[in-house]
Amino acid sequence: MKKIFTLMMLAFLLFSMILPSVGDSKSKGKAKSKSKTADITSEVSKLKDNSSKPKGWQPEIKVGILSKDSKVEIKTIKIEEYLRGVLPKEMSPSFNGEALKAQAVAARTFALKNRKRHQAEGYDLCNTTHCQVYNGLSDAHERTDWAIDETFGEVLFYNDKLIEAFFHTDSGGMTENAVDVWGTEFPYLRASTEVKTKTMPWTVKFSLKDFSKKLADNNKKVGDIKSVKVTKLDIGKAAADRSKSGRVKELTVVGKTAQVKLTGNEMRSIFALKSTLFDIAISGDEVVINGYGWGHGIGLSQYGAEAFAETGSTYDQILAHYYSGTTLKRLY
Ligand SMILES: [Zn+2]
Repeated sequence: MKKIFTLMMLAFLLFSMILPSVGDSKSKGKAKSKSKTADITSEVSKLKDNSSKPKGWQPEIKVGILSKDSKVEIKTIKIEEYLRGVLPKEMSPSFNGEALKAQAVAARTFALKNRKRHQAEGYDLCNTTHCQVYNGLSDAHERTDWAIDETFGEVLFYNDKLIEAFFHTDSGGMTENAVDVWGTEFPYLRASTEVKTKTMPWTVKFSLKDFSKKLADNNKKVGDIKSVKVTKLDIGKAAADRSKSGRVKELTVVGKTAQVKLTGNEMRSIFALKSTLFDIAISGDEVVINGYGWGHGIGLSQYGAEAFAETGSTYDQILAHYYSGTTLKRLY
């Protein structure tokens, strides 16, 4: 089981590196800027109030700064300072303060949970999308700094252990059980409903010829495409071939010479789809894929957190929603 999990995680990491533009967890899929800045004034004034807050011990992490010529410069940084460089790369500082605070807790929890990830190379975390993007304090912003200060030292626990605080850009309408994506059960990474559904709609089209070629390039040769079989998408409704949220678990492509079954993850990887929450149909001489959301759908949805914050939810409520059964604790 552990071996399977390791393989799944490796596949996931590899997939993340191949498709850096896809809005997956950790640093991938940085939320786009929005114009909503109504609560800036009050939050910045709070930031000033907090600047004199006495601060005690905090953990340090060794960050491996990778350069183009594959050299690594190792910097030892206090975790809260590290987060000041990380957070604006994860979520636009224009997001609602409560969403920023939730993201700060998720990024802090992720960093501390994965602190030994690059131990063999002599540091804790790298500064790329593989871990979390960190390019120093030139990226810092007063609003994200404020969110970090407001949640100083706070992390998420499940059964007295730090959680794997995965997150993604937008769920499209419902987040996902981790087990349905990676085959591994995380009791706190459960499918959860969103304020809004059918968010971030997207459409991609392939000619029948290109669709068949892409499959063949991935050792799934079927010849001319005849049909694609999967239950129609109904967000939040499971089917034999769809997960609880409606994401594609498996579909069948019927071709002239063969038919193949593909998992949603395989489809996403082969066709560079934003998510596995999609419908697929043949229209004329094209395969048309209509989907929602951006990212794997596990854990916190960044745009979902923004929507909850706008309806009055506080960051601890947002975190409790996306990481079910976890406890928010101040670690230091
Ligand atoms: Zn890394």
